[in-house]
Amino acid sequence: MTESPIASHFIRTRIDEDCAQQTYGDKVVTRFPPEPNGFLHFGHAKSIFLNFGLARDYLAQCPQSICNLRFDDTNPTKEETEYVDAIREDVSWLGFDATGHEFYASDYFEQLYRCAELLIQADLAYVDSQDADAMRATRGTLTEPGRNSPFRNRSITENLVLFRQMRAGDFPDGTHILRAKIDMAAPNMNLRDPAIYRIRHAHHHRSGDAWCIYPMYDFAHCVSDAIEGITHSLCTLEFMDHRPLYDWFLDQLATLDVFQRPLPQQIEFSRLNLTYVVLSKRKLIQLVTGQHVHGWDDPRLPTLKGARRRGFTPEGFRLFTDRIGVSKSDSLIDYSVLEDCMRDHLNDTAERRVAVLDPVKLVLTNYPEGQSEECYAPNHPHHADWGKRVMPLARELWIERDDFMPEPVKGFFRLVPGGEVRLRYGYIIKCTGFDQDAEGRVTCVYAEYDPDTKSGTPGSESRKVKGNIHWLSCDQALAAEIRLYDRLFSVPAPGARREGDAPDLDRDFLDDLNPNAMQIHTGMIEPSLATAAPESRFQFERHGYFVADQVDHTAERPVYNRTVTLRDSWGKK
Ligand code: ATP
Ligand code: MG
Repeated sequence: MTESPIASHFIRTRIDEDCAQQTYGDKVVTRFPPEPNGFLHFGHAKSIFLNFGLARDYLAQCPQSICNLRFDDTNPTKEETEYVDAIREDVSWLGFDATGHEFYASDYFEQLYRCAELLIQADLAYVDSQDADAMRATRGTLTEPGRNSPFRNRSITENLVLFRQMRAGDFPDGTHILRAKIDMAAPNMNLRDPAIYRIRHAHHHRSGDAWCIYPMYDFAHCVSDAIEGITHSLCTLEFMDHRPLYDWFLDQLATLDVFQRPLPQQIEFSRLNLTYVVLSKRKLIQLVTGQHVHGWDDPRLPTLKGARRRGFTPEGFRLFTDRIGVSKSDSLIDYSVLEDCMRDHLNDTAERRVAVLDPVKLVLTNYPEGQSEECYAPNHPHHADWGKRVMPLARELWIERDDFMPEPVKGFFRLVPGGEVRLRYGYIIKCTGFDQDAEGRVTCVYAEYDPDTKSGTPGSESRKVKGNIHWLSCDQALAAEIRLYDRLFSVPAPGARREGDAPDLDRDFLDDLNPNAMQIHTGMIEPSLATAAPESRFQFERHGYFVADQVDHTAERPVYNRTVTLRDSWGKK
């Protein structure tokens, strides 16, 4: 695989300027901040490569650079330890080790609380006791300013007493909320006295029942960044309107001497959108709980767990994130770009093997019974040093059912009655007949081989034939379950309206599921494929790239998943 040169982008430009001006001294500190409420998907891979990748790339220039893995676990009811473990595993699978710099926003609850008290003491926050409806009604709209809460002018002392009572558990959920005192007429709605803390009598996966008030994302995130000394806080574009609030909180807290300047800066980039999949946690959960797929690591899912089982590689994802780049405007990336990156990596790294996915028997009638001989197949066409393996050729072989056509259509160059093809790494054969069952299904093909044409022997190439088919000897081959995966959805934008839809038609993304996204075959494989370890990746010649299933594959019961076909044939079938 050719390493693509590091592509520059606006975030690098910004960091380069900061380095040149020594804004943050000798460090570029980023973080990847997943909320542990689901499994990571392909979109997260972009963020992981960006955040961890930047810290790694700047290490030579700024020796204290690092990327933190921060679990953004300030939301008590939705988060679970199971997800924390899965996320850590995925990050490590992509090649980044967060040992020693793994953090939890929940570890900052006490500091966050103290920051909130300091804001109250500086008259920059107040306890609002309106109910949610009243608060919504006074928030205004994009064109109208909001109205001040009747509780906005509570005294500092009263606010402090109330806030401490909130923490002590004296009030039920929803009765009070701590709000920043900014400006109810601010054109940016996020600055209209946003909530800082809410009451939530809920158990937290790490802090247990220690807290019944929890900080809001906008407050917790910037304070966590500042606590960790993050320099560049990268997030997706939808947070752009939140940036003034991010800066407001940190600026006030710096003025109150809680944090030192320079403060972390938030920089937004476009999220990954990909055709033929969905990358929203809500929809992914629906696919799993509705049993449209078999769990979070189903190879059809665009989760990193699914990708791994599918045989996608970390290097392929890296290539992909390099190729799509980083920009400030949203775009939709074609799924084939991702598949091409996986192919490019696998083409270089996967050993070649032979598998017959839909076998039919071929008998070489002039080949002596009980005899066999060695043919040699290279493990990789471009790496001679990877060696060759022996493929025993004998009288009875398995070939691919669709490599034979009893009544050939025009342009079919493989085996036909009376026609010739080369058995790859073996001989030229001529078809002499075939058997069919009552339904017309071919059950056996007969041929004669030409002993003067063995591949690799002098003069063997003097006679040319158009077709070249793969085979396995019946004695040697082992049966295997072959799972042929394809794209999860059959349209580029699942659930989106299409031309000609009735105006009142609401499409459901589930209606666009590709019914052929998984097909199971019993195929024949070389013995070395059975003994290969789970997650070993191969190219099955003429078929595509396959991986030994991470979960189900054993030597006794081999299971292979198709990662990707050899060429992009989507939509051209
Ligand atoms: P939700 O919206 O349900 O919270 P999320 O996809 O935003 O889900 P988070 O766990 O909050 O998930 O995301 C962790 C990090 O990954 C964030 O910094 C977020 O910006 C980034 N991220 C999430 N989805 C994408 C995407 N499609 N492309 C790039 N980055 C993403
Ligand atoms: Mg999120």
